[in-house]
Parts: sequence; C-alpha cells; structure tokens
Amino acid sequence: MTKEEAKKRIELLRREIEKYRYAYHVLDQSLISDEALDSLKKELFDLEQQYPELITPDSPTQRVGGKPLKFFKKVRHEVPMISLNDAFSQDDMRDWYERLLKLVPEKARLDFYCEHKFDGLAISLIYKNGIFNLGSTRGDGKIGEDVTQNLKTIESIPLRLRETRVLPEIVEVRGEVLLTKKEFERINREQAAKGLSLYANPRNVAAGSVRQLDPQVTASRHLVFYAYDLITDLGAKTHEEKHLILKDLGFKTHTDNKRVKTLEEIFEIHDQLAKIRERLPYEIDGLVVIVNDNKLFESLGTVGKAPRGAIAYKFPPKEVTTIVKDIVVQVGRTGVLTPVAILEPKEVGGVVVSRSTLHNKEEIKKLGLKIGDTVIISRAGDVIPQVIKVLPHLRTGKEKEFKMPQFCPICHAKTVVDKGGIIVRCPNKKCPARFEEKLYHFVGKGAFEMKGIGPKIINRLLDEGLIQDASDLFDLKEGDIAVLERYGEKSSQNIIKAINDNKKIPFSRFLYSLSIPHLGEKNALLLARYLQTKMPQTQDATLRIDYLIKLGSSLTVNELAQIKDFGPVITEAIVQWFQDKTNTEFLKKLAAKGVSILAVPNEVSKQFQGLTFVFTGELKTMTRDQAKEAVINRGGEVSENVSKKTSFVVVGENPGSKYQKAQKLGVQIISETEFLKML
Ligand SMILES: [Zn+2]
Repeated sequence: MTKEEAKKRIELLRREIEKYRYAYHVLDQSLISDEALDSLKKELFDLEQQYPELITPDSPTQRVGGKPLKFFKKVRHEVPMISLNDAFSQDDMRDWYERLLKLVPEKARLDFYCEHKFDGLAISLIYKNGIFNLGSTRGDGKIGEDVTQNLKTIESIPLRLRETRVLPEIVEVRGEVLLTKKEFERINREQAAKGLSLYANPRNVAAGSVRQLDPQVTASRHLVFYAYDLITDLGAKTHEEKHLILKDLGFKTHTDNKRVKTLEEIFEIHDQLAKIRERLPYEIDGLVVIVNDNKLFESLGTVGKAPRGAIAYKFPPKEVTTIVKDIVVQVGRTGVLTPVAILEPKEVGGVVVSRSTLHNKEEIKKLGLKIGDTVIISRAGDVIPQVIKVLPHLRTGKEKEFKMPQFCPICHAKTVVDKGGIIVRCPNKKCPARFEEKLYHFVGKGAFEMKGIGPKIINRLLDEGLIQDASDLFDLKEGDIAVLERYGEKSSQNIIKAINDNKKIPFSRFLYSLSIPHLGEKNALLLARYLQTKMPQTQDATLRIDYLIKLGSSLTVNELAQIKDFGPVITEAIVQWFQDKTNTEFLKKLAAKGVSILAVPNEVSKQFQGLTFVFTGELKTMTRDQAKEAVINRGGEVSENVSKKTSFVVVGENPGSKYQKAQKLGVQIISETEFLKML
C-alpha cells in the first residue's frame, strides 16, 4: 500500500469506526459486533503505526470511551480512566514484552498479574471518610456520569468500607459492573414474554441498567461489581497487593487471578481461559496482563492514552474484517457451481481462514458483495466461517461485480440454471469435476496412502468447495478443516500431517495415483522403471515432474510396447493420458505444490525366483541379514522353518535343529561355500 492509499484507507476507516462508536456509546445501539469493530480499529492502528505522520488527534485510536448523555450529572475523574491497548496474538504479546524489556531497569523484578478481562461497564467509586459517596461511569475517560444512586442498588458494592486499617479521607476504587449470563437469559425471557425486542448481549444490558434514570430498574437487574484497581495509595507495593486490600475493604474481587513470571505462563493461562470461557458465569473477552510492581508500572508511563505496563490480551475474535481478493467457482460432485470467496487470510475463532463459501449467486446478491470488498466474516460456534456483511463505505471504486460463469470452469460445457433460478450447474455427466473416485484413488492404498483420509473427508472437502482436484489437498491448512463440523483441532492436525508426510512419493505409486486407465500397481512399477531410465535424477534420487511431463508428451505406443507385458490397450491409454492437457496441467499443479517423486529400485534379478532358503548355524563371511538380503535381491524367499517346500538349507557352524529336520525331510543341504558360489 502506498502512503496515498494508506491515507485514503485511514480516512475511510475513521469515518466508519466513528459511526459505530457513536451508535454504541452514545445511543446504546449496537450496529456491529465489538469484535468486528475491534478488527477495523486494529487495522487503523496498524496503518497509523506504519505512517505515524498520519495520526491526528481526532482519530478513534486517540480516544477512550464516549460522550456522557445529558441526563446525568457530569463527574470529572481526578485520575483519568484509561483503557488498555489490545493484543490479539502471541506475537503481539511478544512485541509488548520486548518493548517492556527495553524500558525496565536491569535490576527490577519483572512479574505480571493476570486477571480476567470482564466484558462489562467500567466504573469508578469514590468513598469519603469510608462511606460510598460518588459512583461514575468512564465516559470519555476524563468526564463520566454520576450514577451513584444506581450503583447503590448493586449489592457487591459496599456502602461503607470495612475499617480494618486507617484510611485517608478519599479512597477511589475501580472495577467492572457485569450481568451474569443466567441473569441475561432471564431478562431476555421476560422481554420476550412482554413482546419486547431482545438484548444483544449481557454487556449492553449492564451498561443500560447502570445508566437508568430510575434506580428501581437497575435494582431489578441483579448486577455484579468486581473491583480490580485501587487508585488511592494505601501502601500496596504490587498490583496483587491492591487486590488483597480491595478484598479486605469489602469488595468482590476475582479469585482466579494469577501472578506469573514468564510469557509462556501467560500463554498457558490464556489458552486455558479460552477453553473454559463459555462455561464461566459471565462474559469475558480476554486476559488483562499487568506489570505487578506498582512503582515499575508507574515508571513505564503511557503510550498514547493507554498505560505501557498493562495490556488486554484478547481471545481470538469470532468476527473479523477482511478483504475478498477474488471469487472463484468450484464445481461440486453433482455438477453444482459454487462461488467461493478467496480472502485475505485472517484468524477468526482461533483458526486462519483464507476462503469461505458464498453458496450461490443469490447469496452474493443478498450480501451485495463485489470482488475487492471489505467484509465481516464470522465464525459463530464451531461452524464454517461465513461472510456475513459487506462494508460498502470502504469501497474505492475499483471493486468488481461478480457473475456466475456461463461455461463450466472445468469442462467448458455450457452451464444450466435450475428451475428455482438459484442453482447453476454443469450438465456434463462426464465432467472431470464429478470424478470423486479419482480422488479416493489418489489418497488411497498403493497411491499417496494418506492415512485417515478416505471418501468421507474427501466428499466433505469437495462439498465445502475446499478442494477441486487432488492437488488442492496440498494447499489445505489446519484451519480449513478444524472449522468443519465433527473435525476438531486434533483430527485436522492429523489430516494435514497425513497429506504433508506424503509429499515425497515413490515414482511407481505416483504413476498409480494418477488414475491412468488400465495402469494397475504392478504395471505402474514397470512403467516407472522404464521412464526413470530416461529422466535425470538428483543425488537423492528425486525425479522432476516437469521432465515427466516432457517425456510423457513424446511417448509413443511402439516405444511403450517394449516394456515386457505391455499390450496395445495399456500403451494406448498411457500415450493418450499424457497427451491430455488437463492431465499435464494437473501434474504441473502437483509440482508447484511441492510434490516430489523418488526413483524406484531397479528390477531385482530373477535368479532365485521360486526358491526358498532356510539358514541355520553361524555364517563366516556374512551376517544373517546380509545373506537374507542377497536371496531377496535375487527374487528368492527366506523362511525361518524347514518344510518340504524349502529348496535349500544353508548350514553354517554349529547348526541347530533345522539341520536335523532338513535331513529327515530330505531337503537339499548346502554349505556356506556352496551358497557363495550360487551368488
Ligand atoms: Zn463441467
């Protein structure tokens, strides 16, 4: 992106974010999910980091909270109520940690306090001579609203501080007002019973309840307050001590907080929390990590308007914004053409997503989607990510309209539209896109042998438009599979591993995998041995696919007829296969995706064909294994037991019972010297 383009994008983003912010913070209307909004803010933040000269004081990144409504008395915060910067990944956390290390004096002890990041409403409480005197919302960080009467209805807020210590005249405490999920459901049930519209999330209800003009309504909502910061200096040396003092003063504090020393511990807590998040009684959207030493925290100061010594380590968002780079059309097993959005890869719900099915042309029309659009993708629950909304105000004018193709992209047959006018399909019964059997064969025994991948997963991948032909398998990412119903993180890891473990494949199996008509496993081996004599090999016996394409295109029936056992049917089939452009294109794709083929061992001698050897006693000139190998390399077999079928028993020094048995059965007995002569 050039600076000029960045400037344009920044302006568009600011306008869009401001629109949502005003609706949410001032009008209490949620037009977009917090996560999608965060995603826009993050993009803006990153762009401004890249071009700091483009930062202006009115940028949403330079602001905290929203304007107070007229109805409440305004309250000035002596110490501004700041918000935290966000981290969305381990990389973001490492960056933060690295920046801290540069600023922390060498001798200082750097440890962290980790707390749940509540998804509620931040509140300041002022106690005068130990009595609750003034409660206010954050507002814009400097000026909030006086909601004292409403806060008094919340039982977890003490009206008088416990007198366990000598207190200064003024004590200020900060924390979060929350609504439990259970209470949220109860309120929504009531709303439904009254025929009123439902609330979007517990946080909205908590915010709305605190900012009620009638305290009776607030009281009916059973809100909870968790304290997490003590602004007044009561002698705490660490943030952890602040929590202990808060508890001592009579506040509800969270019991699951942890003090840790390393980033690894933070990652572990974050992962754990993400797993139990859904089961917690209230909503959280991440982990707050704060430098535990209060003096150190103060000395680190602020960056922009957020403290340097603390960060909100958010959970992977379930909604993000991204850009639709292209819309491609996949042809399914039944011939249905499905448009698929190719996305700028983004992490959503913990997995990186780079494509998303758009189902059909009606869906695209409904979304109003154009190629190049900025969109919101959502992954609700464990389902496949979907494009749920287009943000048309971010358009530059270069976006392109998408049209369903009139011809099948695979076989070029003219497409037909189903009666409903929604489903477009390829009518060609022989369309290669329909040949899922080829795919089953490709991954199966004797071919690529991808463990755990069978028709079931192949069908699923085809149906979801994740693969079109076998070469697409090598493009799959764990995230593409993990989001499919019934495929968890573990099984998607296994599937990706099975695919990648088989990128190097013996030439014979490679040829067999291609579904060349009449070419069975045995003939594939013979063909491989023949072709590889005409192909250059690298030191590690790798053969290049582009040579195979070249060689294949020049093959003739007469030439192939030289291969023993190759009749006219099979030679013709091989020649035709390599002449077909679709096939050579497929080979090119495999090469481009890193598939490499290995030369197979040349033909073993047939000297010992049909002969079975048994060894007994010690051999002087070779080990038992070398002797066995010598037999196998000559087409013979080695057995542990003597029977009437045994051809030779080779007797070394101190032979065992096999020797007697051979004598009894009348099997031919030879010495080591005689065996060596045979070799
Ligand atoms: Zn077709």
